[in-house]
Amino acid sequence: MKLQSYWTDTVPRYAPQAGEWPTAVDVAVVGAGFTGLSAALALAARGAQVAVLEAGDRVAFEASGRNGGHVNNGLAHDYGELADKVGVEQARAWYGAYDAAVDTVERIVREEAIDCGFARNGKLKLATKPAHYDALARSAERLRSDGVDADIELLDRGRVREEEIASERFAGGLVYKRSAQMHMGRFANGLAAAVERHGGKIFLQSTVERIERSGSGKPSTLHTTRGPLRASQVLLANGAGRHGSYREFGWLRRRMVPVGSFILATAPLGRERAQSLIARRRTCTTVANIHHYFRLTDDDRLILGGRAHFGVSSPTSDARSAPILREGMLGIFPQLADVEIDYCWGGVVDMTRDRLPQAGERNGVWYSTGYSGHGTQMSVHMGQIMARLIAGEAVPNPWGGRPWPAIPGHFGPPWFLPLVGAYYRAKDRFS
Ligand SMILES: Cc1cc2nc3c(=O)[nH]c(=O)nc-3n(C[C@H](O)[C@H](O)[C@H](O)COP(=O)(O)OP(=O)(O)OC[C@H]3O[C@@H](n4cnc5c(N)ncnc54)[C@H](O)[C@@H]3O)c2cc1C
Repeated sequence: MKLQSYWTDTVPRYAPQAGEWPTAVDVAVVGAGFTGLSAALALAARGAQVAVLEAGDRVAFEASGRNGGHVNNGLAHDYGELADKVGVEQARAWYGAYDAAVDTVERIVREEAIDCGFARNGKLKLATKPAHYDALARSAERLRSDGVDADIELLDRGRVREEEIASERFAGGLVYKRSAQMHMGRFANGLAAAVERHGGKIFLQSTVERIERSGSGKPSTLHTTRGPLRASQVLLANGAGRHGSYREFGWLRRRMVPVGSFILATAPLGRERAQSLIARRRTCTTVANIHHYFRLTDDDRLILGGRAHFGVSSPTSDARSAPILREGMLGIFPQLADVEIDYCWGGVVDMTRDRLPQAGERNGVWYSTGYSGHGTQMSVHMGQIMARLIAGEAVPNPWGGRPWPAIPGHFGPPWFLPLVGAYYRAKDRFS
């Protein structure tokens, strides 16, 4: 079993043509995940001189190369609960932002001719208990009556079993038809190649340690492990800023909790067997606080992820996750008991307190982050929006303008995660 991401292991390592280190650029983008690459693409296409500075030794080094491969529409929240809290207009706008985000990914795949298996097969949200099915039914009703999503379809236990999933486990499900999926490694490589084709530069192993301000408070020089770089504008596309100094990125780190999420990929199952598990090849998620998410790959593996335990990813914890995830897989598909596990890996999800992204400008530096595990589409979309804001366009920012206080008591490693895990496990047992 390989302890690395299936997505990055099944594509060649992208080798940027970057060339010489520049002394100055118009825009420096910190991080070569989807937010950074998408922003760089849009900026370079407008003629700006852009440099993407990446701490890792490959593009999509962190979450963008380690995720579950779902490009889903819909909110991670229960729509009705969110609408009751923030109002229908706001909840509808946020829901619409995810629809727009999936459209953005599709547009870039088409315009840049990225061969990444993008397919709108839809998402199936699966209830593991009758009470969860009732909640899905209420949610579907609310999405329809508020005029938010007329495409959703509620399926009872029988239809889920007959039409969708070869599992006895589920009490019903809700289909979101606009959701998609793709191969994350192929998408990342295609996006990086598009950045370079439009004139942007990508520098790997170039950790930004500190951003120096000029007298006016505007950012002026980025101090990196490769050397200094002057930039007129800076976009932080570096997640919760775990690389680089705490002094520079502590502001971000104090506002997001890094939560480990772990994934396995089986050996190829063969077309017929794979198809018999998930007939319509949808992305699937289960409704629970400690949930599973799964899908098939183009080469007919099952990829299944979940919060195997409450800790952060490391080679030891990734290896420990494999048997826990396998048990979760067999709870859904007991017929896979004979199947080998080829890959197991982990990644860090940057969770905000309200599980919604944050994007804007602070002290002259732009940022977009905190996608809270629902970000393959939003990171790409926000990269495009941030590029337009940086270029001075008055474009609406769906995630701007909300207060973003630090999480109380959160200064270093998240000591409280095991307690959070115990709380959610108890909640799932009694709900
Ligand atoms: C295990 C897992 C499963 C997930 N599954 C899904 C899913 O199925 N669907 C979904 O929608 N979302 C999912 N997500 C979330 C999604 O992958 C992320 O929201 C999205 O990829 C974030 O992209 P990003 O570019 O903002 O951040 P990242 O991809 O994390 O990129 C940030 C980059 O910045 C670099 N960096 C950091 N600090 C510095 C520095 N100081 N200097 C230079 N570079 C720096 C990092 O090395 C990294 O490459 C998942 C996440 C994880 C971890």
